[in-house]
Amino acid sequence: MVSDANWRIPLADVDFGVEEQEALAEVLESKWLTMGAVTQQFEADFSKFTGAAHTIAVTNGTAALHLALMALGIGPNDEVIVPSLSFVATANAVRYCGAKAVFADVISLNDLTISPEAIDQAITPKTRAIIVMHYGGYPCNMEAITALAQQRGLFVVEDAAHALGSSLEDRHMGTWGDMGCFSFFPNKNMTTGEGGMVICNDPKLAERLRLLRSHGMSSLTWDRHRGHAWSYDVLELGYNYRIDEIRSALGIKQLKKLKPNNARRRLLSEKYRYYLNQETPEVIIPFDDPRGESACHIMPVLLPDGINRGQVMAKMKEQGIQTSIHYPPIHNFTYYCQAENMGNLEQTETISSREMTLPLYPGMSENDVALVAASLKIALDNNT
Ligand SMILES: *Cc1c(COP(=O)(O)O)cnc(C)c1O
Repeated sequence: MVSDANWRIPLADVDFGVEEQEALAEVLESKWLTMGAVTQQFEADFSKFTGAAHTIAVTNGTAALHLALMALGIGPNDEVIVPSLSFVATANAVRYCGAKAVFADVISLNDLTISPEAIDQAITPKTRAIIVMHYGGYPCNMEAITALAQQRGLFVVEDAAHALGSSLEDRHMGTWGDMGCFSFFPNKNMTTGEGGMVICNDPKLAERLRLLRSHGMSSLTWDRHRGHAWSYDVLELGYNYRIDEIRSALGIKQLKKLKPNNARRRLLSEKYRYYLNQETPEVIIPFDDPRGESACHIMPVLLPDGINRGQVMAKMKEQGIQTSIHYPPIHNFTYYCQAENMGNLEQTETISSREMTLPLYPGMSENDVALVAASLKIALDNNT
């Protein structure tokens, strides 16, 4: 899905080199494949990068979200407020715990992050937690959201899948709430294939996360292998959400490239603003005055009202340019549209009907950006 030779400019692309190949070869030679020393190193590196005290590597970003809510004890009869303008995993994690996902609107056509006012209005006596999602890597209004959560006694979990390297007031995203959840899926800013991470500062939460990651078992295979433990107890119902050494080895190398690659994404995003303003001034480019520093995960634009988006995307495809939509809103999916609570989701509805995501990856050139902008102009000029 990520890199396809048929596209002149794909939506996203990975940055792999010999470093990754050598790291993988080393793991294979060691013959230790499940979670061990390489994973511990990856977790330590990620802690250092984010400034979080505790880091728990897991099998994917969805598992990270599920573990985070489980660690908070979210269960049936609880409500968790989530954005509808997100990947479905954000709400699914709530449903895995048997709780209800209550959707809240985003701020505006310029700021596609969850609205603190909408969160406030969605709170009921059953509300236990809020999941925020830093759309495109652009930080949510965490000052307002954490203040509200504190005042109302709610937990905050950050879906930071887009926000690898994003920060607000020099605090890495994922360290503002009780826990931060990351994904290393191939279209994210760094990848391990499948993979994810939970970060937190509370040692008790960290201990619970580690326990739940591995069947609720009181000791790990790695400890037993090193002769540290002979048996184990199962303290509660956990899962097998472990990462492995192969993916952790990739993660260590990918993390080293994250800062320069994000800087490149930021520069390309600025170029997009310049070229799109020239070619297609009628297109809205959100986040013109973002808070904090964005990881610039994706390049979302809003097409003019009344434009046939499907036709524009088809016209882009004809020109060899891959585009996407972030996102079809969760509250409109069949599984969610009856059962769940719908507040006023007017901004989400408008954005999701007009949003189109343009290619963005560190390997793009400025010429590629100019070409995408020119292609979008052609596609819009030909829209009927
Ligand atoms: C990618 C993503 C996830 C899920 O991550 P996986 O690793 O694919 O499970 C969750 N939320 C958002 C916003 C994402 O973009």
